[in-house]
Amino acid sequence: PSAPADANVGIVRRKTRPVPVGDITIGGDYPVAVQSMINEDTLDIEGSVAAIRRLHEIGCEIVRVTVPSMAHAKAMEEIRDRLYKSYKPVPLVADVHHNGMKIALEVANYVDNVRINPGLYVFEKPKSDRTEYTSAEFTEIGEKIRETLEPLVVKLRDQNKSMRIGVNHGSLAERMLFTYGDTPEGMVESALEFIRICESLDFYNIELSLKASRVPVMIAANRLMVKRMDELGMDYPLHLGVTEAGDGEYGRIKSTAGIGTLLAEGIGDTIRVSLTEAPEKEIPVCYGILQALGLRRTMVEYVACPSCGRTLFNLEEVLAKVRAATNHLTGLNIAVMGCIVNGLGEMADADYGYVGKQAGYISLYRGREEIKRVPEDQGVQELINLIKADGRWVEP
Ligand code: SF4
Repeated sequence: PSAPADANVGIVRRKTRPVPVGDITIGGDYPVAVQSMINEDTLDIEGSVAAIRRLHEIGCEIVRVTVPSMAHAKAMEEIRDRLYKSYKPVPLVADVHHNGMKIALEVANYVDNVRINPGLYVFEKPKSDRTEYTSAEFTEIGEKIRETLEPLVVKLRDQNKSMRIGVNHGSLAERMLFTYGDTPEGMVESALEFIRICESLDFYNIELSLKASRVPVMIAANRLMVKRMDELGMDYPLHLGVTEAGDGEYGRIKSTAGIGTLLAEGIGDTIRVSLTEAPEKEIPVCYGILQALGLRRTMVEYVACPSCGRTLFNLEEVLAKVRAATNHLTGLNIAVMGCIVNGLGEMADADYGYVGKQAGYISLYRGREEIKRVPEDQGVQELINLIKADGRWVEP
């Protein structure tokens, strides 16, 4: 699914520069992109190709793979080739780990974006007294990072590929920890240190992520990053995520709280929901968050009342039936209401309404107009007939 952003939203997205990741663009006026990561070993070429394809087919627009060694980097060539031959080009991101510059340089030939973690670029000698780093020390370390990073930046720049500077709260370098503490400020400064190096090399295809497993930290870090970028005239897009969100209902709530809060403020250009479950489970959560906020429309929007003592039919059962019959009709708004006591406004201007009227009967609405009253057991079929008569039905 990749329907365009809903033009009719109240959220004003922060202006960011468009950054390419294969045939997807992050930032600019492009829809907030959905991404995830396979958990296969990249050396398992067949398994990795199948996993990337599986994710892409259900709407994951950018797929990340982990590349912990040179052998993994080389395997990406075959993964990409097999994927392109047997399926299609999928925007690929390589997650490269510390001391991995040779690995990053190799894998940059085969993927569209390389993710680096600034916290793993450690050039400082450990300070036992834990004192702050001076600006001279920062400059000296910065030079070493620059030397290390330059070949990768140049390679990505010359191929018009991109880089994610992915800061994690749990892995800040010592110079940041001792100077700024384990804080959102430390995360932001860590990103800025790397942005400045990229800019000095005339490279601007950068996206940023500032992730934490605690939602308030992740929110504060991203807000601060935006504030600092605004002060500095930078417009890099942001990748949002709550790391280690866990699984099940709470994992989804935690991710939604962090990602949704920022998106509602206009912050965020691509999202990943990290669940301790199969990556396929993350994709519907991403699209659910984007749909709920009106940022993307990829499914039917159902409005349904919670039911109460006035309810004239089994709402849970009917909603399930209506959903089963209509959830392939992307773009429609359908309301299922136990009664009309609170007025048509409660149906939030749905395209169609299924409303309890009197015992044993329901009314079908098109917009605010009551179209017909039918026995309850014919309700779902009559709703389908109405949608068909309007030419808005497609076969599942
Ligand atoms: Fe109750 Fe009617 Fe409100 Fe549903 S719409 S919760 S049935 S009053």
